[in-house]
Amino acid sequence: MLYSSLRSEADKLAAIAKFHASNCSFDCANRSVQIFGSAGYRKTARVARHFLDSRATIIYEGANEVLELKIAAAVLGNEYSSY
Ligand SMILES: Cc1cc2nc3c(=O)[nH]c(=O)nc-3n(C[C@H](O)[C@H](O)[C@H](O)COP(=O)(O)OP(=O)(O)OC[C@H]3O[C@@H](n4cnc5c(N)ncnc54)[C@H](O)[C@@H]3O)c2cc1C
Repeated sequence: MLYSSLRSEADKLAAIAKFHASNCSFDCANRSVQIFGSAGYRKTARVARHFLDSRATIIYEGANEVLELKIAAAVLGNEYSSY
């Protein structure tokens, strides 16, 4: 019982951490492209690489849209689970 509740809590916290960190990294990369202007948009620009790579983190290891549903169910209760 204890193990199961700790595991649920860890699942929820991991989902929140991944959701937050990946959104932050994409936001930073997006702003960096803006700061560098057209130079930031070039395919060879480092910020363009970060933009692309950080965008991928929103999709893999649990797509953020799916994590949102998981977090909502963990906070509101499993009766609100939609996956
Ligand atoms: C760069 C990169 C590296 C990867 N590396 C690996 C790897 O090493 N090993 C591995 O096994 N896999 C890897 N993947 C695959 C990755 O895990 C999957 O792409 C990811 O799980 C999403 O699955 P999908 O691409 O089938 O998208 P889908 O599940 O088809 O989803 C498509 C879109 O719909 C959204 N969506 C899905 N369901 C819902 C819903 N219920 N409500 C709202 N929106 C929803 C998703 O968020 C996504 O935006 C990698 C992917 C990328 C982009």
